[in-house]
Amino acid sequence: MVSRVIPVEDFDLVIFGATGDLAHRKILPGLFKRYVAGQVPESAQIIGAARTEQDDAAFRDMAAAAIAEFGGVARDDPQLKDFLRHLSYVAIDAQGEGGWSALKGKMRGGVVQAFYFSVAPALFGDIAERLAGHGIADADSRIVVEKPFGRDLSSAKALNQTLAQHFDEHQIYRIDHYLGKETVQNLMAVRFANVLFEPLWNAQFIDHVQITVAETVGVAGRGSYYDKSGAIRDMVQNHMMQLLCLIAMEPPYHFDPDAVRDEKLKVIRALEPLAPGDIVRGQYQADGDEPGYPQDAGDGHSRTESYVAMKVRISNWRWQGTPFYLRTGKKLRARTSEIAITFKEPPHSIFDDSGTPKANELVIRLQPNEGMNLKVMIKEPGPGGMRLVQVPLDMSFADALGPDGQDMPDAYERLIMDVIRGNQTLFMRGDEVEAAWAWTDPIIAAWEEGKQRPEPYDAGSSGPEEALRLMHRDNRRWREIRA
Ligand code: NAP
Repeated sequence: MVSRVIPVEDFDLVIFGATGDLAHRKILPGLFKRYVAGQVPESAQIIGAARTEQDDAAFRDMAAAAIAEFGGVARDDPQLKDFLRHLSYVAIDAQGEGGWSALKGKMRGGVVQAFYFSVAPALFGDIAERLAGHGIADADSRIVVEKPFGRDLSSAKALNQTLAQHFDEHQIYRIDHYLGKETVQNLMAVRFANVLFEPLWNAQFIDHVQITVAETVGVAGRGSYYDKSGAIRDMVQNHMMQLLCLIAMEPPYHFDPDAVRDEKLKVIRALEPLAPGDIVRGQYQADGDEPGYPQDAGDGHSRTESYVAMKVRISNWRWQGTPFYLRTGKKLRARTSEIAITFKEPPHSIFDDSGTPKANELVIRLQPNEGMNLKVMIKEPGPGGMRLVQVPLDMSFADALGPDGQDMPDAYERLIMDVIRGNQTLFMRGDEVEAAWAWTDPIIAAWEEGKQRPEPYDAGSSGPEEALRLMHRDNRRWREIRA
């Protein structure tokens, strides 16, 4: 299979925060990969901006080192050298007035203009105001903003209002990099490009859904930052909410930004408030010399969760009676993200003593080893009568797609090119973000008002015992966490 590279229009992309971690790890290597793929037009400009005083040559050196380190490219790769020609730099303090006219001087008219705000959210307003005030951005410019988009409903609303003073909604690209992952987009392809699943995709045939995002790393090194957030703010309100929406939403009338986002919004609005007994929070414990969460967070009394499991109900016709179980955590047994859809058992078995048919299960693996696994019942081979056995129909996308499947583009590559194309489908709309906070806020507030401590769990385990009970009381089980 040959992947098609669809060229994008000529562009000027300004990266605010070009000297920072995200630019180095993701944005610059992602742009380089798109350049190698032939998608970056010959005259496109990538302009770095940050407070650090440096000239173009120093910025190119910095970018080359970052691309070599995080993009797995040799420092002397000739394509890297060519790519650097697209880069330049201007020193700007987002909160000062210097540098803006130099930036304006670099921008060309008549090409796509995009401004990537890869800086702390507290600076979004300053940058938006100055881009407009200095006449650099216009009604066609696009801005890209990073997570976290607020830490509750009121801060998200304030951020939306700040941006709205200078940019229309159609100009704002709120990144949730999960939406840029190939396999996450595949959820839509699997659901809406096959006739097989959609007729069964409802409470009549689906017993429950499990969404798991498990990490093996702890929060060491960024504990004080994470401690202000916790798993609900860091993972559930954004990434897991997006996965839930893509699984639960109605088919949009078209694969069009607002049609898709309207359907996701309806799911978020249909979420029932979470009952106190339907959530379990956990913190990983010290393990020998390895510190536990409170030590990593630098606060021995921290009540912030490094793990959360919850039972979520969606109040609409399609999902009445089918719970969605979500769990995510740090320092778990394996690094894995998957969505498992467990169907109901056949209503009647025609086979007497041959083993009861088990429920079908569809597992969509987002990482690692992206693919799908459908468990089906078949007859056990041999002459011993009709005995049933469950077997997996297993497909790894890498095997199925050949070389293209081996080298899936990083989420940032895809998302940045979508910004240039002007396609907002894989970006969160303002009302979507606010609705997600409106559902999450009371869950966080109830916890903050209480005195309960998170349940302890061992590093390298599947999470706290209490989370197992959340499932057992419904006569269900979590899937094993394994890579
Ligand atoms: P970072 O490493 O701290 O970088 C911050 C950048 O902002 C630096 O380039 C810094 O450069 C620049 N900056 C700071 N103050 C400035 C000012 N007054 N005017 C102009 N530039 C200023 O942060 P980061 O990790 O790259 O994160 C950037 C954004 O992405 C944040 O919103 C973060 O939440 C989000 N994000 C990051 C990641 C990640 O993996 N890193 C993942 C998801 C989301 P100077 O010091 O040279 O000014």
